[in-house]
Amino acid sequence: MDMKFLKRITSLALVVSMLGLYSCDNANAQHSKNNNTVKSISKYDSQIKDLMGKMTLDEKIGQMNMLTSDWDVTGPVMRAGYKEAIKSGKAGTLLNAFTADYTRELVQLSVDSTRLGIPIILGYDVIHGHRTIFPFPMAEACSWDLEAMGKSARIAAVEASAEGIHWTFAPMVDISRDPRWGRVMEGAGEDTWLGSKIAEVRVKGFQGDDISKNNTILACTKHFAAYGAPEAGRDYGTVDMSKRVLMEIYMPPFQATVDAGVKTFMTAFNELDGVPSTGNKWLWTDLLRGEWGWDGFIVTDYTAINEMVPHGVAGDLYDASVLAANAGIDVDMVGDAYINNLKKAVENGDVKESTIDAAVYQILKAKYELGLFEDPYRYNDATREKKEILSPEKVAFARKSAAESMVLLKNDKEVLPFSKDIKTIAVIGPLADEKEDLIAAWSAAGDRANRPVTVLEGVKNKVGDNVKVLYAKGTEVEGTSTKGFAEAIKIAKQADVVLLAIGEKYWMSGEAASKSNIDMPGNQEALAKEIFKANKNTAIILMNGRPLTIEELDKTAPVILETWFAGTEAGNAIADVVFGDYNPAGKLVMTFPRNVGQIPIYYNHKNTGRPLDPNEKYTTKYLDVPNTPLYPFGYGLSYTTFEYSNLKVDKNEITEDQIVNISIDVKNTGNYDGEEVVQMYIHDVVGSVTRPVRELRGFEKVMLKKGETKTIKLSLNKKDLSFYRLDMTFGTEPGKFDVYVGGSSDAEDKVSFTLK
Ligand code: BGC
Repeated sequence: MDMKFLKRITSLALVVSMLGLYSCDNANAQHSKNNNTVKSISKYDSQIKDLMGKMTLDEKIGQMNMLTSDWDVTGPVMRAGYKEAIKSGKAGTLLNAFTADYTRELVQLSVDSTRLGIPIILGYDVIHGHRTIFPFPMAEACSWDLEAMGKSARIAAVEASAEGIHWTFAPMVDISRDPRWGRVMEGAGEDTWLGSKIAEVRVKGFQGDDISKNNTILACTKHFAAYGAPEAGRDYGTVDMSKRVLMEIYMPPFQATVDAGVKTFMTAFNELDGVPSTGNKWLWTDLLRGEWGWDGFIVTDYTAINEMVPHGVAGDLYDASVLAANAGIDVDMVGDAYINNLKKAVENGDVKESTIDAAVYQILKAKYELGLFEDPYRYNDATREKKEILSPEKVAFARKSAAESMVLLKNDKEVLPFSKDIKTIAVIGPLADEKEDLIAAWSAAGDRANRPVTVLEGVKNKVGDNVKVLYAKGTEVEGTSTKGFAEAIKIAKQADVVLLAIGEKYWMSGEAASKSNIDMPGNQEALAKEIFKANKNTAIILMNGRPLTIEELDKTAPVILETWFAGTEAGNAIADVVFGDYNPAGKLVMTFPRNVGQIPIYYNHKNTGRPLDPNEKYTTKYLDVPNTPLYPFGYGLSYTTFEYSNLKVDKNEITEDQIVNISIDVKNTGNYDGEEVVQMYIHDVVGSVTRPVRELRGFEKVMLKKGETKTIKLSLNKKDLSFYRLDMTFGTEPGKFDVYVGGSSDAEDKVSFTLK
């Protein structure tokens, strides 16, 4: 059925259903209408049904069980002896295995040793590259280059599939407004609209245009839902939010992946309105499968069924398994919950056999779609593996993508770019010659210890023998010793220019890596101050997995280049940027607060009834810190400058079915060719419910030669102007809209129009 039609006819049901979630009954109270029954007619329908006709209940439940190999796990290994389990038909899927040979062995066990020879699906966290590692997802999002993000996902899929991987647990599409949460690095930042666009290209990149090709892999949207909003930013923490915020801010990126055809979804560890995701029938059966019409398979997060016991919604693993199965969850990730409890649950009548059938149908469908029944070994080809992994084009693209993700936060007196005619450069800092951090958390098969190019190596590669390159570590990322300061100061004095690489260790962000203090760790800032005194031509090379509170550093540093953890080619890309071979154009996708007390801080906040007036006491503000962030969403400098003028709207009044066109002239007024991300924000001035002061609704990344002017054309349609109105229907309301266009979320150029 046509997706749009399906959405229209179900929108009313959606509202009713959403209201139900937050009414006094819990989310499981009202799901009878959307049982998890087989509803999609796959082109493999008859094969799937034939096969299911031959399967015993045990074999069906075996398909719903996921095991891990003993490589690279993110939690306790619940089942040793996974090879035996595969042979006895107790593993439909498995994670954490790669290389063509090893995966061939596992596939062979599933095909040759089980009664029906059903091939296993192998999954892995291919989050920002497989062997060739790109900047982590939030860093990459700072490029605002959708095509490039799609391409890096495509490259990751090509490499992973050549190593026997059929399925990645990505993209993570969790919006987050809290940089204390370590997993902000895995998403696309704080903005729903941009996050939705990025979610779409990532799914399409992994899955390609034909999932039956052996270089495409199943994508997995995670973590459904609202995992990015744990209380106080603490990972796995409680989530509690209004239905309006849930639907308007957190859900759209998930829905964007449904529209993009994502094949699988993952549950989240958190509860939502008191119901853990993995037992939340409203989320899975009513909303995702019912209202959104999605029909792939759902996997739990790691042991998330088991965790419903400590959550306190199930007394034991049997009850937890019943809850999960009846919520519509198809695959148990390494919890040993389904395999030990579902048969009994069916016999007791607590779970219907049709529920099991619906799950198995989806899992087998994916196996047919991947072509595994045709040739189970189509992903296990050692020759292809050799050819694809870390091929020169992929590595070159990683370098480009790394440069694109960097954000120039400060560049006083145009210290950057450095001239290549310098005689001596000092490369200083605990991260200046450290490989392991550069590929960040979730580094798949990136070879942390050996492969990444450090800043020191990148600089040497760039300047060759013409320039003397000095190096000193100076200090550690953590710790208080100042023993190394003297040597660092000495070489800073000897050099024409200095690069100072400081920030976080890679393990300080990612899963289970939340922090209550996001200042620069250790005594790195103290070292920085000494280096600035020794040499004014110092550029800070920041490396970190989240926004940091670096207001002090910002006051004293001449230059700050945010390089995140830029991946396999980090050092080369950093050298490209600092020596001006690439003019930075990245823009932040997450606000940098001044201090942790400002969190949550995000650009699309509400105005309140007492908007800030610095001269008026009784307005919304702090006594000790401004309301503004250190660096806002959308912010980022270039070596050149851009001037905006002539902002125009083509109609002063529109009906909701008309498109309104916005245009603006952007001129490169500086001394370098460069790219600018031209951003458009709207403000719906009066609504039946309060609206954010600004909402991103369009952008264009444009290249302008020195002195060149281009007219940028953007437009707004009905969907762009729509929101969840007072009655929770999604649509527009008449009234005035302001439109801001510029190079950041605090753009000042404004026009207005009225929606009749
Ligand atoms: C994470 C998931 C990940 C899974 C498998 C979990 O701990 O939350 O995002 O996909 O492990 O490694």
